[in-house]
Amino acid sequence: MQGKIALEEHFAIPETLMDSAGFLGEAVWPELSARLLDIHGRRIQEMDKHGIETMILSLNAPAVQAIHDVKKANEIAKRSNDFLAEQVAKNPKRFQAFAALPLQDPDLAARELERCVKDFGFRGALTNGFSQAGTPDTCLYYDLPQFWPFWETVQKLDVPFYLHPRNPIAAWAQIYEGHNWLLGPTWAFGQETAVHALRMMGSGLFDAYPRLKIVVGHMGEGLPYSMWRIDNRNAWTGVSPNYKAKRKIADYFHANFWITTSGNFRTQTLIDAMLEIGADHILFSADWPFENVDHAANWFDTASISESDRIKIGRTNSMRLFKLGNE
Ligand code: MN
Repeated sequence: MQGKIALEEHFAIPETLMDSAGFLGEAVWPELSARLLDIHGRRIQEMDKHGIETMILSLNAPAVQAIHDVKKANEIAKRSNDFLAEQVAKNPKRFQAFAALPLQDPDLAARELERCVKDFGFRGALTNGFSQAGTPDTCLYYDLPQFWPFWETVQKLDVPFYLHPRNPIAAWAQIYEGHNWLLGPTWAFGQETAVHALRMMGSGLFDAYPRLKIVVGHMGEGLPYSMWRIDNRNAWTGVSPNYKAKRKIADYFHANFWITTSGNFRTQTLIDAMLEIGADHILFSADWPFENVDHAANWFDTASISESDRIKIGRTNSMRLFKLGNE
């Protein structure tokens, strides 16, 4: 399919590059680091070859979220956003941008998002899970009350917020002890992000700000597969779930969430997601440079779905959600 939009596509600046070292092994680091630092070369070739018209770019992970010195986190976010704005300006038809945000301080994050959206025309924000604020052990999840004014700004700006994965800190990762292979994209990323998203849904955040639009990657980080059970476990007891939100979790998932195909190129999984959240809330993505564009595109272009769903997922849903102009 030509004209695809992809939106979980990362780059690095020299200050954040090493955050991506060690994930995929030393043998591929020369290749991965070159992919991360490139914007206008190999990346465009991959897009041309595989029918991707536009990538919405975001900083690698965990980057800003792991900088517990708040001032430094703000500095790196601004530096990255300034750099990204310059790159997008060179080729806006092919590249758009998500802001990196210093959510260690919700007020600073709101101001930075406002700057990126109003001054640079960024399409939203992409944040790498919880933020470590002040000390390495202080992990802030965005359902917490201090973040609600930030969310008010996000809703007011009317831009989507991509909740991208990161690993749990070592002190919270005992379950993986002796099984490091489960960290990262294999399992821990999805687990960490799904719980974060569920915290937000259960907190009542979407009752207060019903027009928030949250994007999660990797075909929904397992959420579509578990959605029925989340709302229906032990239904015979008739006992209401013990959370602050007013509605069923699935109601928020349907209304406030979009999922992408990043790094999860599997038709069986896509069809489950289509049955749970609907084709209107699914967006094509690759997860370059951690996954290959050809793997994403070759799978998606031939997946057994209707052509009208392919066009929605590959292009028009994203055009509408990110206000990318004419469809
Ligand atoms: Mn990613």
